[in-house]
Amino acid sequence: MSFNNLGLSKPILRAIQEQGYTEPTPIQKQAIPTILSRKDVLAGAQTGTGKTAGFTLPLLQLLSETERGNSKPHIRALIITPTRELAAQVGESVVTYGKHLPFKSSVIFGGVKINPQIGTLRRGIDILIATPGRLLDHASQKTIDLSKVEVLILDEADRMLDMGFVHDIKKILALLPAKRQNLLFSATYSDDIKKLADKLLNKPELIEVAKSNISAESVEQVVHPVDKGRKRELLTHLINEGKWKQVLVFTRTKHGANRLSGQLEKDGITSAAIHGNKSQNARTKALADFKAGTVRVLVATDIAARGIDIDQLPHVVNFELPNVAEDYVHRIGRTGRAGNEGEAMSLVCVDELELLANIEKLIGRKITSIKIPGFRVDPLIEAEPIRNGRQGKAKQGGGRQGGRSSGRNSRGRSNTRRG
Ligand code: AMP
Repeated sequence: MSFNNLGLSKPILRAIQEQGYTEPTPIQKQAIPTILSRKDVLAGAQTGTGKTAGFTLPLLQLLSETERGNSKPHIRALIITPTRELAAQVGESVVTYGKHLPFKSSVIFGGVKINPQIGTLRRGIDILIATPGRLLDHASQKTIDLSKVEVLILDEADRMLDMGFVHDIKKILALLPAKRQNLLFSATYSDDIKKLADKLLNKPELIEVAKSNISAESVEQVVHPVDKGRKRELLTHLINEGKWKQVLVFTRTKHGANRLSGQLEKDGITSAAIHGNKSQNARTKALADFKAGTVRVLVATDIAARGIDIDQLPHVVNFELPNVAEDYVHRIGRTGRAGNEGEAMSLVCVDELELLANIEKLIGRKITSIKIPGFRVDPLIEAEPIRNGRQGKAKQGGGRQGGRSSGRNSRGRSNTRRG
């Protein structure tokens, strides 16, 4: 099946062709015609499935079906994302796929000056991509008009709820016109997502692609049992033996990310850490160096890694398993994207066996366990409770990585991660 019979216009098809896509992904096949029929959509799709194009392409098509004429643009589509990185990437997709169309789009998130954003909004845009916090800042300063939004898209809605944005989302909904099309994308379906969907969506069409892309055969998953104290040594061994040039490594805490990155550097492996305590500039630079190949290892926490879009990322390593099983799915969604082969490995110590069991339950299968010669697990080491971020080290702060409730303020979100 090609893109040609999905109802997209020539300028959009041209942009798709220029990207080198020949065939729509399963989520795109389903989402594009449904969205074009102006129905509300509840879509279960993770990063790596092509979901961004799945909503951006039909959105551009819908907007281009009604002319704006010469009048100043106003916000007709609002895309909300949980993180700045994801907002930036969705923004890039809108520009890429819309490059032969006359729309103006802009990305708005916190951590950068608000004044240039006010100027951009004043000049007028058609498509706004924003994180919730900064969007509400603009609303409270009355520098934004959302009263003419035709299409609302919540991307990675599960992550937004995880990050405590539920009240912000409700406030944003109150600023929108009642009659609009709503699209909700989420990698997982929790009760909270169902509640949000009930409130937000009007007779939605359900779209789900092959349970998740973890079950996509393109990601090979393995567990390497190892003692906690030897994880760093094993990681260095794997990187050197495999001659890996680009590997994304996950830790549970920001402090752990910094420490591991420093240790890898001492082992002669170029590395950078990215997490919520790093400035936007530092994060952007780390990601650029990683993409350019000057940094071999990017060590990231779950939140910071959200929405990182790196094509053909061959290796993802869970240096520590995440506390929340769904995060495992998100993490390994970074590899084997859109048809490329990928490998996800987890270094698991005795403390983490329960977390592993939860993950296997979630994904519905056992992950192959492979012992690496020279790294025999010491059977005398007993499991210890996992110490995360704040619980363990009050000053470092664990952010959300520290568990569902630690590291958040009373409104349920980390101060440093305000969008
Ligand atoms: P996403 O799930 O939106 O993060 O997209 C994952 C990756 O797949 C991105 O790098 C896209 O550029 C790429 N992609 C999206 N649609 C297609 C397609 N139809 N064919 C090939 N690659 C695609």
